[in-house]
Amino acid sequence: MPTILTHPAPILALGAALGFRRLSPRLLWLAVFCAILPDFDVIGFRLGMHYADLFGHRGFSHSLLFALLCGGLAGLSAPWLRCRRWLAFIVIFAAVASHIALDAATNGGLGVAAFYPVSDARYFFPWRPIQVSPLALSAFFSERGFSVLRSEFLWVWLPCLSFGLVAFVLRRWGNPSAVVSKAA
Ligand SMILES: [Zn+2]
Repeated sequence: MPTILTHPAPILALGAALGFRRLSPRLLWLAVFCAILPDFDVIGFRLGMHYADLFGHRGFSHSLLFALLCGGLAGLSAPWLRCRRWLAFIVIFAAVASHIALDAATNGGLGVAAFYPVSDARYFFPWRPIQVSPLALSAFFSERGFSVLRSEFLWVWLPCLSFGLVAFVLRRWGNPSAVVSKAA
């Protein structure tokens, strides 16, 4: 997996692209949480589960079905999230799905059970530039941990920052009245 520092990057880029004002703070914070939620499956190791089990690491919680369920629950909770149902569904689905996609682009561990229950197989993308993060915290504070952060900056943060910045500029450019009314 990429680190928990990096998993929220795509959802923050999406927020910058849509405009943070369109996302309620509750929806934004829930999306950041849901971007790391699938990795809570590591608790299964403490319960005696194996990596390759359905509820092991990168199993059920890394499936599109899980992303749909999370999106559906968010849609049902839209009044509490103070946003429209479709927006809650899309943002939370995207948060979980982005986690699955990032894991599928890492170069270690087992792949993600993205298509459970249609298939139990674990999948990776054909191109996997992101260095997999160590599961043990102690291993993270090492040369390998630094190398992982460098890889995540290059392959996740840099594209997300670029996307968010370009989308932000295009949005402002397409709506100059917002800038004028602020200046007035
Ligand atoms: Zn993961």
